[in-house]
Amino acid sequence: MKKLVITIDGPAGAGKTTVSKALAERLQYRYIDTGALYRGVAYEAKAKGISPDDGHQLETLCRDLELTFVRNEKGVRLFSGEIDISDYIRTPEMSMMASAVSAHPMVREALLGLQRKMGAEKSAVFEGRDMGTVVFPQADVKFFLTADLSVRASRRHRELEEKKSPQKFEEVEKDMARRDTNDSSRAVAPLKPADDAISIDSTQYSVEAVIELMMKHINEKI
Ligand code: C5P
Repeated sequence: MKKLVITIDGPAGAGKTTVSKALAERLQYRYIDTGALYRGVAYEAKAKGISPDDGHQLETLCRDLELTFVRNEKGVRLFSGEIDISDYIRTPEMSMMASAVSAHPMVREALLGLQRKMGAEKSAVFEGRDMGTVVFPQADVKFFLTADLSVRASRRHRELEEKKSPQKFEEVEKDMARRDTNDSSRAVAPLKPADDAISIDSTQYSVEAVIELMMKHINEKI
């Protein structure tokens, strides 16, 4: 069977994580959450008292940073050096900080090589914002997954409630809209569909329907 690099880009809350994990499981591929890497940079910046606006210090930070994904009994975890930081990077604060640090060209540059190395062995589903446009322009199958803002915000709101980290719905929606604007308007690697991406609007579809649709496109390539 042909081994593929599959990319899934799109705004926050579109369902990228759920469908990427499901596809990776079905295909027996690796699942790579590139947003976690930007969250890792944000987490370390905060821990070291570095402002997300300080490009110079962020550059130095990225040079020394060692971010790795490790699969253990808890699932796929993000390590910074020897420390598992997975439980600390999913807060609303880290979401906004990740968006701020990700706009710096040298932060993106530092993570580019790492992501491409992970793709070298093929057989992986990459989730992010610039997977199909910048990191893997030659990817075998590219998807751009989106949904209406209110639908994405209510999905994220529910997730946060389940994690007992409640934020008001209006706040979640406002943060999400701000993050979308930051991510789509930055000068380097903005969030946008690749010319050859298959765009799917998940507003009206169930998760299963989106996965089936994606599998149809993937099977054509395999
Ligand atoms: O996907 P997730 O919400 O975890 O990503 C957090 C932030 O990281 C995004 O809002 C975006 O600013 C940044 N990001 C990025 N490029 C990627 C993945 C994430 O700029 N490939």
